[in-house]
Amino acid sequence: METAAPIKEIADIILEKGGTSFQFCYQCGICDVVCPWNKVATFSMRKIVRQATFGLTEIEQEDIWRCTTCGTCPQRCPRGVNQIEAGVSLRRIATEYGAFPASVTPIVTVSGSLMAEGNPFDLERAKRADWAKDLSVKTYTEGMELLYFPGCYLSYDPRMKKVAAATVNILNKAGVDFGILGAKENCCGESIRKTGNEDLFKHLAKENIKNFIDLGVKKILVSSPHCYHTFKNEYPEFNVKFEIVHMSEFLSDLMNSGRLTPVRPLEKKITYHDPCYLGRHNGVFDQPRNVLKSLPGAQFTEMEYFRENSFCCGGGGGRIWMETPKGERFSDHRLKQAVDVGAEVLVTACPYCITNFTDSSLSLEDGRAIEIKDITEIVQEVI
Ligand code: SF4
Ligand code: SF4
Repeated sequence: METAAPIKEIADIILEKGGTSFQFCYQCGICDVVCPWNKVATFSMRKIVRQATFGLTEIEQEDIWRCTTCGTCPQRCPRGVNQIEAGVSLRRIATEYGAFPASVTPIVTVSGSLMAEGNPFDLERAKRADWAKDLSVKTYTEGMELLYFPGCYLSYDPRMKKVAAATVNILNKAGVDFGILGAKENCCGESIRKTGNEDLFKHLAKENIKNFIDLGVKKILVSSPHCYHTFKNEYPEFNVKFEIVHMSEFLSDLMNSGRLTPVRPLEKKITYHDPCYLGRHNGVFDQPRNVLKSLPGAQFTEMEYFRENSFCCGGGGGRIWMETPKGERFSDHRLKQAVDVGAEVLVTACPYCITNFTDSSLSLEDGRAIEIKDITEIVQEVI
C-alpha cells in the first residue's frame, strides 16, 4: 500500500470532487439510524462525513468501502448532504493512491478485467453473446424498435442467463423488433464508478456511447437497474441522450397495450423487492407492482420495508464484488422479511439482488422454502 495522501490534500480533493454539501451536516445521526449496516454491524456515515469535511479521513480504512450507495440516508437527511458522493470521493482518492484494504483487493482484478474484456468476470469478450446462441436474437441494426442491453451478469452468469433467455422469449412473443450489440457490448460502468475508478468508468461509457451512436440507437431496453441508472442519469454527462426503459416498465407497457397477455394461473403468494437503483434512485415503484398484481391467481403481498423504504440487498456501490462476511449480509435480513410475510416467491428485477438473495437462500434454514425470481421469469411462466 502506498503512503496515504496528506490531510490537507484529502480535504481539498474531497471538496473539489464531492462538492460542499458535507459542510451542511449538523451531525444529527439520522443517516446512521436508517442505514442498513446498523442491522448487521457498526458503521457511521455521520462520522465519515464529519471526517471528510475536515480532511481527517484515513483513506486506508475499511469503512469508506462499506456504503452500498443504497440511497436511504440522502433521502432522509434534513440538511441535504450528499453522503454517497462523500463516500465515492474518498474512494476516488484511495484509488489514486492505491490505498486498498485487504477486503477490497478484488476490485483491482475486476478493474483489469473490465479494461481488457469489458466485463468484471475475467471472461472473454468474444463469448459475451454466447447466452443467445440457441435463441432467436438478431444483431442490432438501425431502425429496429429497440436495442436490448442485457449487461454483464445476464451475459455471463449461469443463473442470470436464464433471465436473458426469458426476456428474449417475451420480446419474441410480443412481436418486438429488437437486436443486441453482442461482443461489442461493454459493462455500463456504474459499479466501478462507485468504487472510485472514474477513468475506467469514462473509458467504458465512451465505448458504449460510440457504439450506440454508430448504430443509430434511440431506445435501449435494460434488465439491470444499474445499467438503467447509468444510461439515464450519468451518460448525459457526455452530452448524449437515449430513451432508456427497464424491463419491468416495458412489461407493464406490453401488458397495458395488449401485446402481452397472461393466460396461465400462477396460484402462488408473491412479494416484490424494490432494487435500490430502480426504486429509490429512479422512482420506478408502480410498474413492477402493476405487472405482478395483474398475474392471474397470484396473491401479492408487501414486506415490512417497501417502495422508498425498501431494504438494500447489499450489492450496490461495488459491494457485489467484495466478500461480505456471514452475519453482515443485508440479503439475509431481506430474505427473512420475505419469509415472514409467507411469500412463496420473492420477485425482484436486478441481477445483483438475485445473486445475493440466492446466496442467502442457500445458507438460511427459512430461506430454503422460498423461490427467488426475476420479474421477467415469473411473467414468462404465465404467458
Ligand atoms: S443525516 Fe445529514 S445532517 Fe444528519 S448526520 Fe447524517 S449527513 Fe449529517
Ligand atoms: S447510502 Fe445506504 S448504505 Fe450508504 S450510508 Fe446511506 S443508508 Fe448506509
